[in-house]
Amino acid sequence: MYNLHLHTNKSDGNLSPIELINLAKDIELRGISITDHDTIDAYMEAIPYSKEKDIELILGLELSTDINNPKLESEYIEKYGTNLPEIHLLIYNFDIYSKKLHMILKDIMEKRNKRGLKIIKKLINDGFNIFEDTDYQNEKFIGRVKIANELINTGYASSIKDAFAKYLNYNRKYYVKRESLSLDKAIKLAHDIGGIAVFAHPGEIISNKLRKLVLNTNIDGIECFHPRNSAILTKELIKEAKNRNLIITGGSDFHGTEKSEYKLLKKYTIPSLPNKLNRIE
Ligand SMILES: [Zn+2]
Ligand SMILES: [Zn+2]
Repeated sequence: MYNLHLHTNKSDGNLSPIELINLAKDIELRGISITDHDTIDAYMEAIPYSKEKDIELILGLELSTDINNPKLESEYIEKYGTNLPEIHLLIYNFDIYSKKLHMILKDIMEKRNKRGLKIIKKLINDGFNIFEDTDYQNEKFIGRVKIANELINTGYASSIKDAFAKYLNYNRKYYVKRESLSLDKAIKLAHDIGGIAVFAHPGEIISNKLRKLVLNTNIDGIECFHPRNSAILTKELIKEAKNRNLIITGGSDFHGTEKSEYKLLKKYTIPSLPNKLNRIE
């Protein structure tokens, strides 16, 4: 069994790459992909350790992308009352040494952290007692989930969902927009570095029209199995993938922040690796 969507503490997960591989071994997964947001740092430790533990490792990464389509955006705002959501893209099997990739990831990470610091500053200016004992300015990854966790720890929110709904979502006071790669650019990047581009958790997108638009790009695969995809949608996505000759992937999007996630680790998996995906040798 393969779980191809897992996060470590190199982005916004709770477990180190070593702990995650130990967990995968304990629950008898055959292989995993670590798909941290905007970083491949986990692989420094994960590659040698996965060999030691005899866990197949598939190189992965998750990028947040934007759709630049003003017409669709205004339609979307009218219909759903919100801006177009980010589209998450999973990239697998790419050249880990690509200079281009490293440059782009560095740039994305800087933008993410700048945005994170802006949000924290806004909150602190408004009197939130957060990050009092931490040197947050020098953290390597300051994403919104990290800020949400701090809001939970300091009693301002009851869950990640609550923190986003109260403070961090696009229509909330502490939302700060982040510049992302466009979806097309991100897919092109995936191909330029020899990788496979997969549409992550399509179930997070409420608009069918938007989902179709993503499927009509030159994407290579669909994450059909994911906790956010309903049973009906999963069936539809599998059909779409077959019709369009796209690969089918699956993963539980484990972050290790909530207990319930552990039960999903073997539920959202695929039995064998699809054609174009290979383990790191
Ligand atoms: Zn995602
Ligand atoms: Zn994810």
